[in-house]
Amino acid sequence: MIYLDNGATTKTAPEVVEAMLPYFTENFGNPGGIYSLGSAGKKAVNQARRTLAEMIGARPEEIYFTSGGTESDNWAIKAAAEGCAQKGRHIITTKIEHHAVLHTCMDLEKRGFEVTYLEVDGYGRVEPEALEKAIRPDTVLISVMAANNEIGTLEPIGEIGRLARERGILFHTDAVQALGQIPMNVEELCVDMLSASAHKLGGPKGVGMLYVRSGLKIPSFLHGGAQERGRRAGTENVPGIVGFGAAAARAMRIMKDKTVREIELRDYLIRRIEEEIPYCRLNGHRTDRLPGNVNISFSFVEGESVLIALDMKGICASSGSACTSGALDPSHVLLAIGLEQSEAQGALRFTLSEENTVEEIDTVVDCLKQSVARFREISPSYEEFQRTQSKGSL
Ligand SMILES: *Cc1c(COP(=O)(O)O)cnc(C)c1O
Repeated sequence: MIYLDNGATTKTAPEVVEAMLPYFTENFGNPGGIYSLGSAGKKAVNQARRTLAEMIGARPEEIYFTSGGTESDNWAIKAAAEGCAQKGRHIITTKIEHHAVLHTCMDLEKRGFEVTYLEVDGYGRVEPEALEKAIRPDTVLISVMAANNEIGTLEPIGEIGRLARERGILFHTDAVQALGQIPMNVEELCVDMLSASAHKLGGPKGVGMLYVRSGLKIPSFLHGGAQERGRRAGTENVPGIVGFGAAAARAMRIMKDKTVREIELRDYLIRRIEEEIPYCRLNGHRTDRLPGNVNISFSFVEGESVLIALDMKGICASSGSACTSGALDPSHVLLAIGLEQSEAQGALRFTLSEENTVEEIDTVVDCLKQSVARFREISPSYEEFQRTQSKGSL
């Protein structure tokens, strides 16, 4: 199997599984217990908290563990909106956010908040000048992702953070794709809240975190016990949190080598596709993108069909459409960067890890070449295109 869907989820690293196991077996105690069986779990959770704090340049007491990126995004946006509602009811975000952000904002719109969804440029970048223009006296929150999950585009969040800080507006960033891929420092970037998820960086699924700058008075998300300083109740997911900590430690250790390797493979994959398959276009920025992200549209084919053909050869990737209610909707991100519906539907995303090899990339390009050519042979739009082409040359 060749796995090129690390943007969807990553394999839990063996050392992470190792670190988690004792917290299912001998150290199963509730961290709330006063006996030593519980305190082992409590210690481990706090160790993980310190590791994650170190990773983003925060303090341990600013880290809150959650059930994942989706919960962190929901909490950050709802809590900030609710907490600031006295001051204003306007939120600024972008058209290319993950649905965990977009759908949360849409829900707030139903409850009396106003949301500006910023346009992005052809690479998927938010223009800080456009953001500045969108700021109103009643703007209370800006939420812009650190890196886009579909096209890998890196956003100028440091600039945006400084703008927000100058105006006294809260700044949240969804860093689920960025954490573990590129350095992130909440102080340098002027971030007030940051969402992350373990399973995107070699950790387990179902655990994430929200960084909340100390001093911010945002409402609790889950009410109940006193866990997470009373802000996120519920018995801690001890094995998951331990796994998140281990994954973060590993990510910090390998980041430099991983980045070099992935950029090399990424650019090799892009180059081979561009040289060997006609009528395709790279989506997102050529260099200002996540090290392991490749997103390419192939004209005259359905990305979904190519995916199935690749799957039959044991290759896992993803497409530029999401299956919602049985229909294939083109990606909101690809439409936002100006693609036609058909181009968006012909997009494929390959997201690499440090484990991929040149041989794997070669295999993928060979399969891709074959299946794209085969689907084009039976594509009416390709036939039509060729007819107009040959007419033009007469
Ligand atoms: C995966 C992802 C999420 C959701 O995280 P989960 O832990 O799966 O809930 C949110 N935002 C981005 C950018 C993501 O890539």
